[in-house]
Amino acid sequence: MGMLHITCKKATLLIIKKEEKKLSWLERWQLRGHLTICSLCRKFEIQSAFISRIAKEYLQSVHLLGEEKKEKIQERFEADRAGS
Ligand SMILES: [Zn+2]
Repeated sequence: MGMLHITCKKATLLIIKKEEKKLSWLERWQLRGHLTICSLCRKFEIQSAFISRIAKEYLQSVHLLGEEKKEKIQERFEADRAGS
């Protein structure tokens, strides 16, 4: 076992870490090496990227919704003032 050989457990941890922050060059090599030989971890990487994308989109949409709501409230406030 060379230093580039890692277990599935370690590969999984690196995939999760990759979504949050940058990996060191050694970790990137370890992960890349593992993914070329392990189809299970490749599947996990795809799922993990998919989940984090969905989560980001969700957070973004929540944020946008919040902005829209604020504008709506502002509009109604202005309309009320104009009406009275
Ligand atoms: Zn694996």
